[in-house]
Amino acid sequence: RQQAYLAERDLPFETRDGAPVTIMMNAGLLMDMGHLEDTGAMGVGLYRTELPFMTRPSLPDVATQTLLYQKILKQAGDRPVVFRTLDVGGDKLLPYLGDDGEDNPAMGWRSIRITLDRPAVLRAQVRALLRASAGRDLQLMFPMIADVAEFEQARRVVDAEVAREQSRGGALPSSVCVGTMLEVPALLYQFPVLLRVADFVSVGSNDLLQFLFATDRGNPRVSGRYDPLSVPVLRLLRDVREQCDAAGRPVTVCGEMAGHPLEAMALIGLGYRRLSMAAQGIGPVKQMLRSMDSGIVTNYVRTLIDRDAPNPRRALSAFARDHDI
Ligand code: PEP
Ligand code: MG
Repeated sequence: RQQAYLAERDLPFETRDGAPVTIMMNAGLLMDMGHLEDTGAMGVGLYRTELPFMTRPSLPDVATQTLLYQKILKQAGDRPVVFRTLDVGGDKLLPYLGDDGEDNPAMGWRSIRITLDRPAVLRAQVRALLRASAGRDLQLMFPMIADVAEFEQARRVVDAEVAREQSRGGALPSSVCVGTMLEVPALLYQFPVLLRVADFVSVGSNDLLQFLFATDRGNPRVSGRYDPLSVPVLRLLRDVREQCDAAGRPVTVCGEMAGHPLEAMALIGLGYRRLSMAAQGIGPVKQMLRSMDSGIVTNYVRTLIDRDAPNPRRALSAFARDHDI
């Protein structure tokens, strides 16, 4: 299927009216990195680091992690990679990190909560990321942040590791950017404060919508019940984008919706200019992007929100059809 889009690979990621859009790829295995070439993705907007932790009987040490991150960065070449720190728990269990069978794992001891409670795990990972990024830019972000204090606590770990490497005379990255994922709705109500301390934001719409609608993302009986292309979601995402722009913080959508052409069209209409998606989404999204006019889509999305349109998905599909998108 990728073949079909190969002809367009070297055309720029921009809308018909010339708005450039940064399209990046999500990855979680070294093997995924080859898709940077065949998709033409501009970088990795979300590198999920948990897989190597899940396939081993024990925690990978700093040297093992450093080597792995070096390989990833080598494959990325000049392209940026945004590493997300360990996001286990919930549906991704690590036997050696004490799983005692929770009733509500999606809302339980998972993700940043684990690594804040076991700071040695976060320290080791950050140390490996710093070492692997020596001489280049490091971008890392924390998953499932629910409150600014958690972000600040995790960021202090990064600062301490930078200072430690420095005092040991180790080679450091040329810059370190620390961002947050937006997956927990509570964060929205601390957004201005958060944007003062986080360098960038990445919207994890999979978890954000799960918690927004109180709907288990992995339960097919309910997961299709609410639509990401609905007015509350569009309004929320518009507010997020506006606040990030006002604060001068880059914002990316890296959840699954970014990789679907219709959803991606709506996101561009909401003002997003950075999307990160699974490799197979890139060709179709690029095709959509190059055939849409960002100004017209922006106006249309605004009218849908303003009139609380009952079924934005249907309206957007018809709009795309009428405009040869
Ligand atoms: C998300 O929640 O949208 C996300 C990108 O993270 P994951 O799918 O790994 O939970
Ligand atoms: Mg998530």
